[in-house]
Amino acid sequence: ALTAAGAREWLQRFATAVDEHAAELTDLDRPIGDSDHGVNLQRGTRAVLAALEAADPPTPGAALTKAGSTLVSTVGGASGPLFGTLLRRTGKALGDSGSVDGAALATGLRAGLDAVVALGGAQVGDATLVDALAPAVEALEAGGSAAEAAEAAERGAASTDDLVARKGRASYLGDRGTGHRDPGAVSIALLFAALAGSGA
Ligand code: ADP
Ligand code: MG
Ligand code: MG
Repeated sequence: ALTAAGAREWLQRFATAVDEHAAELTDLDRPIGDSDHGVNLQRGTRAVLAALEAADPPTPGAALTKAGSTLVSTVGGASGPLFGTLLRRTGKALGDSGSVDGAALATGLRAGLDAVVALGGAQVGDATLVDALAPAVEALEAGGSAAEAAEAAERGAASTDDLVARKGRASYLGDRGTGHRDPGAVSIALLFAALAGSGA
């Protein structure tokens, strides 16, 4: 089950993964975007760690809500509002429970996914982070482990290689955008790998 400390560890592991993969994420954003995805997320996750340090949220819901609002307010690119909305709406859906089991986390992340879709308008198949997020949430809803959700996210990210982007900057390229992996989908895979690594 996910506790406040577990949620902090999840977000810390995500920040570390973003640091380790920042150059790769920015490289993925070069041919189909504006070469800033790694830098954007890195700015956001550093601010998240500082905000959690200062606020010391008492529940997993409060930790995710704080992380989400921090991402929205510190990241200028599309990814800030999208990742921020995901974490904030998930956090709010978790309520004030001190210990969140797998089923409750799946329900919370479904609310987060729905909010991301409402905000950005992307569906599965549009070559965005939704292609990694939706299968990860579905894996958890089916009772899968965080590791299985991470694998589903990774497969979803790989599926963007052959897709034509219909949302975000990559959509400006039309058919020429195929043959590239979506950077936001790769970041979502890192988010779920971090969850699995935190032992939740
Ligand atoms: P920007 O495109 O503003 O420079 P980033 O480079 O940080 O922002 O993030 C780009 C990522 O955001 C894309 O790889 C994609 O996964 C995601 N994205 C962009 N627009 C949307 C959208 N409308 N819905 C879902 N995801 C989106
Ligand atoms: Mg970009
Ligand atoms: Mg940008």
